[in-house]
Amino acid sequence: MMKLIRRSLNGVTMYRLMVYYLGVLFLGGVAVGMMGAAFLDPVGLVVSLVLSVASAWVTNRLFSFFLKLPTNAESVHITALILALIMPPADFADPMTLAAIVLASVAAIASKFILTLGHKHIFNPVAIGAVVAGVGLNTPALWWVGGTPQLLPLVILGGLLVAYKIERLGMIAVYILSNLAAVLLTTPPGMMGMALQQTLLYSPLFFAGFAMLTEPLTAAHGRWSRHVYAAIVGVLSSSNIHIGTMYFSPEMAFLVANIYAWAASPKGRFKMKLIGVEEIAANCYEFVFQSDRALKFRAGQYLDWTLGLSGSDKRGNRRPFTIASAPGASAVRVGVKFNPQGSAFKRGLLRMQEGDTIYGSQIAGTFVLPRQREKKLLFIAGGIGITPFRSMIADLLERGEKRDIVLVYANRSADEIAYRELLTRARNELGMKVVYAVSGEPGSAIYDDVTLVQGRMDETNLRECVPDLDERRVYVSGASTMVSGFLKMLRKCGVRRRWIHTDAFAGL
Ligand SMILES: Cc1cc2nc3c(=O)[nH]c(=O)nc-3n(C[C@H](O)[C@H](O)[C@H](O)COP(=O)(O)OP(=O)(O)OC[C@H]3O[C@@H](n4cnc5c(N)ncnc54)[C@H](O)[C@@H]3O)c2cc1C
Repeated sequence: MMKLIRRSLNGVTMYRLMVYYLGVLFLGGVAVGMMGAAFLDPVGLVVSLVLSVASAWVTNRLFSFFLKLPTNAESVHITALILALIMPPADFADPMTLAAIVLASVAAIASKFILTLGHKHIFNPVAIGAVVAGVGLNTPALWWVGGTPQLLPLVILGGLLVAYKIERLGMIAVYILSNLAAVLLTTPPGMMGMALQQTLLYSPLFFAGFAMLTEPLTAAHGRWSRHVYAAIVGVLSSSNIHIGTMYFSPEMAFLVANIYAWAASPKGRFKMKLIGVEEIAANCYEFVFQSDRALKFRAGQYLDWTLGLSGSDKRGNRRPFTIASAPGASAVRVGVKFNPQGSAFKRGLLRMQEGDTIYGSQIAGTFVLPRQREKKLLFIAGGIGITPFRSMIADLLERGEKRDIVLVYANRSADEIAYRELLTRARNELGMKVVYAVSGEPGSAIYDDVTLVQGRMDETNLRECVPDLDERRVYVSGASTMVSGFLKMLRKCGVRRRWIHTDAFAGL
């Protein structure tokens, strides 16, 4: 069952999954309204959605046209859907509800272009939209999706899939626990049961967590900062927290936490100009870019890349790619794997000409070398999963820093081995041991004095190539299935779980 879920989630991007999640919740709301089970008018809901999508879409097109910036169409739909799920449903008898949904949508999208610092928007667009409509038209968010208990199973199950897909279950747990703790600590003992029931069944708690806390661009980066961010939203959005007579709404809690996230996160969006493309292995190309300003990152981290596409597909126009170059290098490199039935994004990437631009944002990732140099390391790369190691190795070479490293590089065929020249340098200059594991055709006379394993890597030959396996911190990088396969193998070999670091290239 888990395998099936994992495989289905692999085929869909985070943005697409979020659109499905919100779409299902919206239809659920319409169905509940049609059954007369709640105070939801289905026609009003549909009108709200049409208004929010249309206003968000037009605002987005206008801003991107005048500012000449690429946009992510799916993120516009996500913003519009969330607003339709939280603003009061449109009611022709109360024109303010119609104006509020339009104003909230326009403000949400405009905030992405206007409320920016270092090319990065600071506030969760939905939260801004809801606050503007609340203050400007005295029509605040109703969070009806959270106040409809019939929708709760859908909110939680779908939300868990989203959080699982983007690996934010820990962050959601911190948010929920801090919210409940704040509720309990501020409620008189005799009323705790009722307060808990209210929070769990009738509040925006779960929906706001799954749909808004997970928004990657305005959340904090790095595990601990993310947890602090989640705790701020959790505590401030709990029902009894107030400053003087002002009580926080969930949307205001997000705005406060966004300021923390902005202060704690790496800043900005980088405009990258293509300066070269090189084939580095079969169906793998390296794209070399010049960034408009210096990129501060640690070897092994990645960026979110947004490509201006005229026609996108259901996988959208944004992808995480590891920065394959060393932090100090003048050019920014990414190594990309191409598939025969490739996505619109990858086809667009291949069509790029020298001088064309793409945007990188949100340096992130904890797949980095330990600071203690004496630790023995084992790198395991599958195919294009070599990119974070390429960055680390190039960095070590640049700084002449020797560490005790074994690299096991698994590929289906010899022509899929990338960066061979750099790996040869690492063997010669750093004393790194390199093992090429080739499950298919090994090719001829290319391996010099590296260790070659023919056939699939298994426990026996892993132990043979790395006799001191138990003493090494292990870093595994590649497609999700490869990473989980090696994780199981390493656990069977007795490697401690907390010594294993993984970088799963979801989507491959
Ligand atoms: C932290 C991180 C770092 C990463 N670093 C890298 C990196 O350095 N290099 C790298 O190459 N990747 C990297 N990835 C993976 C990358 O982000 C993409 O998810 C991956 O390359 C797949 O790209 P794609 O969606 O464009 O699909 P493709 O690579 O084009 O195709 C992947 C599969 O999806 C299928 N597919 C494609 N389009 C569609 C469609 N419209 N409908 C249905 N099926 C479709 C294809 O047939 C193929 O089977 C990283 C991922 C993460 C999370």
